[in-house]
Amino acid sequence: ERILICGGTGCMSSGSVKVMDALKAELAARQLGQIEVVMTGCHGFCEQGPLVIMEPQGVFYRRVQVEDISELVQSHIIEGNILERLLYQDPGNQQRAITYRDVPFYAKQQREVLHNCGHIDPENIQEYIAAGGYQALEKVLREYTPQQVIEDVKKSGLRGRGGGGFPTGLKWEFTSKAPGEKKYVVCNADEGDPGAFMDRSVLEGDPHAVLEGMLICGYAIGADEGYIYVRAEYPLAIKRLKVAIAQAEAAGYLGDNILGSNFSFRIKIKAGAGAFVCGEETALLNSIEGERGMPRPRPPFPAVKGLWGKPTNINNVETFANVPLIFRKGADWYAAIGTEKSKGTKVFAMTGKVNNTGLVEVPMGITMRQIIFDIGGGIRDGKKFKAVQIGGPSGGCLPESLLDLPIDYDSLIAAGAMMGSGGLVIMDETTCMVDLARFFLNFTQKESCGKCTPCREGTKRMLEILQRICAGEGREGDIETLERLARVIKSTSLCGLGQTAPNPVLSTLRYFRDEYEAHIREKR
Ligand code: SF4
Repeated sequence: ERILICGGTGCMSSGSVKVMDALKAELAARQLGQIEVVMTGCHGFCEQGPLVIMEPQGVFYRRVQVEDISELVQSHIIEGNILERLLYQDPGNQQRAITYRDVPFYAKQQREVLHNCGHIDPENIQEYIAAGGYQALEKVLREYTPQQVIEDVKKSGLRGRGGGGFPTGLKWEFTSKAPGEKKYVVCNADEGDPGAFMDRSVLEGDPHAVLEGMLICGYAIGADEGYIYVRAEYPLAIKRLKVAIAQAEAAGYLGDNILGSNFSFRIKIKAGAGAFVCGEETALLNSIEGERGMPRPRPPFPAVKGLWGKPTNINNVETFANVPLIFRKGADWYAAIGTEKSKGTKVFAMTGKVNNTGLVEVPMGITMRQIIFDIGGGIRDGKKFKAVQIGGPSGGCLPESLLDLPIDYDSLIAAGAMMGSGGLVIMDETTCMVDLARFFLNFTQKESCGKCTPCREGTKRMLEILQRICAGEGREGDIETLERLARVIKSTSLCGLGQTAPNPVLSTLRYFRDEYEAHIREKR
């Protein structure tokens, strides 16, 4: 018997640490101290926290408070009766779910990257190992040449989960082939999109998976040093990474001559100071070097001239967390999930006007309707769905007519949105789409580093226009000016921040132009 308590940031903020303390005290008082109580990483169903799971059956209790503990122990543990009132009740079918598998939010997901999150103690390497952790690294060091590792990553079809969707194996190959003795692996954990918390949850819930992915990458490209650039606003993730690195070093998975091979690798953590632009890979490199976090012109690309001028491979957290799966379960297994050009699963952080907010992992190719209605439980308060913003401030919105579009990198680009890192903000019929565009543009405008004129000045001009349209002072020709500015900013900005900043405006103009026109027509 063991009891799992969610220790993700969401559940912690709703009181899971107090619940754990109360549970331990109650068990001790009833001479049941032998029952193990484990604080895990994020289970994903943040909206229902604090979550308590009773193993081995996996009985799923939600919104557990300190006052519930005595009754919970008496009923579930002493009398063997499920405490009905703490079970989850699906708003759709009014049925109570008893175990994890009965909760529609989980039943319709495919949790591969998140398979350990919520099930193991992220601060105990032995639990990671017992769940198959570090087997992929052992296999790679025993059976693969570096080039074979790259070939398998290419064969798997894995594409970068940070936004652009560049093929990961190809990226590794560029760095591997770049001349130079010293090379680096960098993990981009500077997740800054409003509403996004995928990477934070993986770091908090399964930090060793990210380390293992970085180690395999280091072996493949010939690097002996790695950095994790993680935002300082993620203190729990930083703490768990530090614990994981120390434990991996002590267990011989990090350091010199790993597992008796001639491969040596070390990982350091660099905490960023919260500038959104530092998620752009060249600005991130500047920041690690101690410079101001501003993007560098490309070429040269980081694969050739990256950190301290050395060839550097940069991937984000979720990309690295996919890598051990490819070697543990096979590149063919991985490539069988998803669509023709987008393989594997994708983790999304679902927020906004949906019943079940939280972290979901689904196969590529699933439709937005399945995510929002089957997993998310539909729109709150019986309201009508209006749109979903995908990809944060770099992405775009999808209207109701595109709810059945299979989601992959390319279909989203064609629809004027993009995968981004995986933030999903759901909007209902009461949302003003012009206001939404203004919100995201306001964000990118404030985060523009100011290095190049189109982004620095252009986004400011676009924002002024959006502000006056929202204030009921829009003018004839404003929409056309917005479109012209957007085109120029997209095609002439130096980095991804500026190149994608107009997307929320363009996609709302594409699908909700009538709202802009109505605002201008119906001046106050
Ligand atoms: Fe800075 Fe924006 Fe130019 Fe990027 S596009 S370098 S964020 S000013």
